[in-house]
Amino acid sequence: MTESRTFDSVVIGAGQAGLSSSFHLQRLDISHVVLDADESAGGAWQHRWDALTMRDVHGVAELPGSLPPARTVQRANQAIPAYFTKYEREHALPVIRPVRVDRVENDPDQQRLLTVTAGDRVWRTRTIVNATGTWSQPFIPRYPGMAQFAGEQFHTVAYPGPEHFIGKRTLVVGGGASAVQFLGALAPITDTIWVTRSEPIWRTDDFTPEAGAASVALVEQRVAAGLPPQSVVSVTGLMLREQEREAERLGAYARRRPMFASIEPDGVRWADGTFERVDAILWATGFRPAIAHLAPLHLRSRAGGIQLDRAGRGTTAVVDPRVQLVGYGPSASTIGANRAGRAAATGVRRYLAR
Ligand code: FAD
Repeated sequence: MTESRTFDSVVIGAGQAGLSSSFHLQRLDISHVVLDADESAGGAWQHRWDALTMRDVHGVAELPGSLPPARTVQRANQAIPAYFTKYEREHALPVIRPVRVDRVENDPDQQRLLTVTAGDRVWRTRTIVNATGTWSQPFIPRYPGMAQFAGEQFHTVAYPGPEHFIGKRTLVVGGGASAVQFLGALAPITDTIWVTRSEPIWRTDDFTPEAGAASVALVEQRVAAGLPPQSVVSVTGLMLREQEREAERLGAYARRRPMFASIEPDGVRWADGTFERVDAILWATGFRPAIAHLAPLHLRSRAGGIQLDRAGRGTTAVVDPRVQLVGYGPSASTIGANRAGRAAATGVRRYLAR
């Protein structure tokens, strides 16, 4: 079924990036709908583990024209969905859910238009703002023997909470903020081993706005060159917070080892041939952008990423100015997503004015 109306824009995804985009499109009086795959408001936050409280998150920027939830012990997977629900309602944002977009392509009849298809529903539009985040694309590297492992394996997306690991020798894989946080919760209650591909970079100084901007600039350079983006968090460096001090005292971070060579049914084999028994492997190995539905538009460069304008600081796809990408690369943080929403709305207006 094709919607009879042609929209000026279709926003795909209603997390922080999609809601900010919709807010700014609305202010510019640009007709649009927001299509979101989830059953309810909250973006990826509604799927985060129960033990993650608003005190544990690294900081959630406010959506335009509102105040963010307080840093209390309330669960993030409740506080932020409640905040987004209220925001969508207060600003009457045109969100339709659940709608999982399968593909975006040139309209067969009018090449300058795009069609956005979700099952048997089709929307016709002049531009899109893609805000689909990364949560639906968890990344787990391949290691020999991993299919034969007899213990449990979880990615961050399925982290069942710390209590689940009591009595289980747990290997935490990954050098990012999630791994640090998991070790902080697990090391005081169970036996942990930490492995990372490269030496973690620890920050001892305060994370000033200047340091944040320098980290974002590193990701911008990659996106400007059309390379696959790194996560902003991966270039900011790691910091221990109060809730991780007990794990630090127990040596959980000091006992880090380089990656193992292979996985066996009862554990892992190190590169030097020695064996380590483990009961569970927790893959805190990150995510990839959820952009498979954009494949028909051929936006990827030869380097594998999507090149964005303004030397990677903009949101417009260089090869197709009908497409805005928000929450991608340098804007994959709540503060970045907010700013990208505004830039995307401006980019849509610029395209429509052509
Ligand atoms: P999401 O919140 O993932 O929203 C994407 C939306 O798109 C979802 O609602 C989804 O249903 C929808 N969608 C996906 N695919 C489709 C499709 N094909 N069709 C239709 N809809 C689709 N950042 C911070 O700034 N502070 C933090 O403390 C912080 N903590 C983090 C903790 C973890 C564990 C992780 C993984 C990330 C964290 N981040 C944090 C980064 C964070 O993910 C981003 O800042 C921000 O929340 C992402 O917003 P988003 O709108 O880009 O994506």
